[in-house]
Amino acid sequence: MPDTDERDLTLVFLIDALGQEIVEGSGFCERLISAEPIRVASILGFSSGAIPTILTGRLPNEHGHWSMYRRDRGRGVFRRYRWILRFAASLPRGDWRFRRWLTDRLRADGVTGYFSLYEVPLGLLSQFDLCERRNIYRPGAFEGDVESLFDRLEREEVPYRVWDWSVPDDRALREMEEAARDGRERLLFFYSSVLDATMHLQGPRSDATRIRLREYEEAIERVAAAARAGGRNPRIRIFGDHGMAPVRSHFDLLGSLSGIDARVPDDYLVFVDSTMGRFWFRSDAARRTILDRLSERTDGRFLDPGEMERLGVAFGDREYGEEVFLADPGVLFVPSFMGSRPIAGMHGYHPEDPDSDTALLADPAPSRPVRTIRDLRGLLLHDLGIDAEGR
Ligand SMILES: [Zn+2]
Repeated sequence: MPDTDERDLTLVFLIDALGQEIVEGSGFCERLISAEPIRVASILGFSSGAIPTILTGRLPNEHGHWSMYRRDRGRGVFRRYRWILRFAASLPRGDWRFRRWLTDRLRADGVTGYFSLYEVPLGLLSQFDLCERRNIYRPGAFEGDVESLFDRLEREEVPYRVWDWSVPDDRALREMEEAARDGRERLLFFYSSVLDATMHLQGPRSDATRIRLREYEEAIERVAAAARAGGRNPRIRIFGDHGMAPVRSHFDLLGSLSGIDARVPDDYLVFVDSTMGRFWFRSDAARRTILDRLSERTDGRFLDPGEMERLGVAFGDREYGEEVFLADPGVLFVPSFMGSRPIAGMHGYHPEDPDSDTALLADPAPSRPVRTIRDLRGLLLHDLGIDAEGR
């Protein structure tokens, strides 16, 4: 364990989509952190699976969270709205008012986790469920014996404060600066999705990305300076959950299945994420037809069971899909249930693609090796003098 001092203050900046390929050689935060950024592998999936992996130190099939949408297993959040959804599905495409109403209803029903209805077809919503029912930045978010960073901090009675997706960046950073200078916390945790949004729209290697990084850098310097002004020793940990790849081509996954002899939802069900088509089948014929049709593609492939096991995304009851068709890096499904228009940057590709890697910028240097996002929880606990493996 590193020596801990009550003046030590761990400052965590979780910047969604902070890719190693983007920060490497960019000079990002070099005034604060002299060491090179450390390459950190992510998992297969999106933030809805990667951030739980950071917080729990476990793989998706261990903590239970992967894609934002999974199959309804009988207790789904959309179940009570299935009649309204059936009616709403007949509304014209401009159904954003209904989506806003439904979002408010789900919040009123007690869903505190992050979600968006995106453009998921309303007629199919009640077949699915949200994986993140509870806010993962608060204690008690995971099922069973899965203990998140925040569960552990509560148990160890470590004073901490978190700013999650529900707080705009400017307010969060202002409050973090105050807390760093005047507060009594030992860990301050900031999450931001602004870089991710910028790179989706403008692309990861754009000027907009460089400007955004500069803004983060200045904000992080202000927080670190505030901590020093308050007599604290800041321990800076900046990292993301995954990287971002430039989009190079598009594929109309649903369009490619038109005309086959199988229908949704009677023969099969599909959820089209931006880079993954996840399928459930009601007949062997439908399975064969779809596997045959998509196996011809050269811009994506079905993941075999052994690989899903190895990547930690093999779920016992196949709630996230019986078969997963994964796009090759840079290929975007257009349209998908996430959007009908092409965008410039995307993630959610195979974790072995270098653009999937995130970065860790750390000062002082990490006291233990960090190779994947699974190692970050242990590092943060270790920084606080807590043995992550210990119970
Ligand atoms: Zn994103």
